[in-house]
Amino acid sequence: MPLHNGASEPVRRSHSNPLVTLANPAIGDEVRLPDNKLSEDPVPAEVAYRLIHDELLLDGSARLNLATFVTTWMEPHAQQLMADCADKNMIDKDEYPQTAEVERRCVAILADLWHAPHPEHATGCSTTGSSEACMLAGMALKRRWAARVRAAGGDPRTRTPNLVMGANVQVCWEKFCRYWDVEPRTVPMEGDRFHLDAAGAVAHCDEDTIGVVAILGSTFDGSYEPVAEICAALDELAAGGGPDVQVHVDGASGGMIAPFLDPDLEWDFRLPRVASINTSGHKYGLVYPGVGWVLWRDADALPEDLIFRVNYLGGDMPTFALNFSRPGAEVIAQYYNFFRLGFSGFVAVQQASRDVATGLAERIDAMPQFRCLTRGDELPVFAFTTTDDVQGWDVFAVSRRLRERGWQVPAYTFPENRTDLAVLRVVCRNGFSLDLADLFFADLQRAVADLEKDAHSGGQLSGPSGFRH
Ligand SMILES: *Cc1c(COP(=O)(O)O)cnc(C)c1O
Repeated sequence: MPLHNGASEPVRRSHSNPLVTLANPAIGDEVRLPDNKLSEDPVPAEVAYRLIHDELLLDGSARLNLATFVTTWMEPHAQQLMADCADKNMIDKDEYPQTAEVERRCVAILADLWHAPHPEHATGCSTTGSSEACMLAGMALKRRWAARVRAAGGDPRTRTPNLVMGANVQVCWEKFCRYWDVEPRTVPMEGDRFHLDAAGAVAHCDEDTIGVVAILGSTFDGSYEPVAEICAALDELAAGGGPDVQVHVDGASGGMIAPFLDPDLEWDFRLPRVASINTSGHKYGLVYPGVGWVLWRDADALPEDLIFRVNYLGGDMPTFALNFSRPGAEVIAQYYNFFRLGFSGFVAVQQASRDVATGLAERIDAMPQFRCLTRGDELPVFAFTTTDDVQGWDVFAVSRRLRERGWQVPAYTFPENRTDLAVLRVVCRNGFSLDLADLFFADLQRAVADLEKDAHSGGQLSGPSGFRH
């Protein structure tokens, strides 16, 4: 008797028969999850929970996912706080003034970490992630370019703005360009240069360049782009009468690593040419998805006409966002991490990830079959490829073998001019402990031994084409 058949079966009768109630051990045979349209009747909450929970077992274990940059572990207290705040809408500054205040504090804390000239008057906001943050930063760059063109007596509508960046940019920048009618000028990789450099950036700039995006660091291999060198080269360009091009730093990951582990590296608002910076709170900000942050050097770097004023306790609260309603819990969780860890706590957590990454990269590089392109000493992320000795298998086969043990390690080819290069990438995050790294390394060794055995017994390459049949 289907549980959901409430109309014909009086509730009383279900209660009299434990097998037709929640105790029915075969409930999954009687109730189907809706596929393409709503089912006719409700089901008990416990049943809905159980069936959806069970289906999601197929998602794989987030902790064994070495592909993602996004946080997969938070402390129970943080989880509790997030559950407490699940009902808070970030946009309701009036209803949740304290959540708005917490957001302000987070922006000020980041402004201080990133050496903004006046952190107490920080200009910035939370977003759903770096993607939204990059859209906002890109819009500000485009507006400022248009204002400059108009100030010089031109008409921006008759020109095509462009944005200069490495071919290794995250897809959100291509998205920005397409959605906001900006020409993407991507500087290809060349030889062993896997990200943007100063010469490449300058060579692609002209009067219609709205900005240069420098990445800290690259998702392809975890390397930092040389932000200071790029800025210095652009300083020179401007001093020589060329265009005066601002820099946006995409610090999706590195914005939360460099301040703690590389305090002497100048990549942030210490460089006068850096107009804005974004980061993902849900990456090395150690918060569950989704929260991001974007900050401008000062109020001048953010055109006033992009800002909407909302009423905030009778006062005036500026907002700049693409969406309206959005959860407040992640912002609260960001503040929890800032408060809970403090500066030295962040140093400890990020250093632990870097230690795991560099240690693992070193061991993998020592294997005759692999060569590391990066060593995990910038972002706690490294990419490695097979050496010339390897025959009969490839990085794609390794990725698939590791998956058999639950590890998710992406294998992919590099972009323009290095599409010949196929790599595996490991992202070390808080929660991927030395112990887990040891287990991972043992599984990698086993996978390689199996692949070599198969290759010698006439096994087949399982590269991208091998996946198709
Ligand atoms: C992850 C990432 C993004 C996109 O960030 P989300 O927070 O996932 O929206 C943009 N740029 C870089 C460099 C990234 O690593």
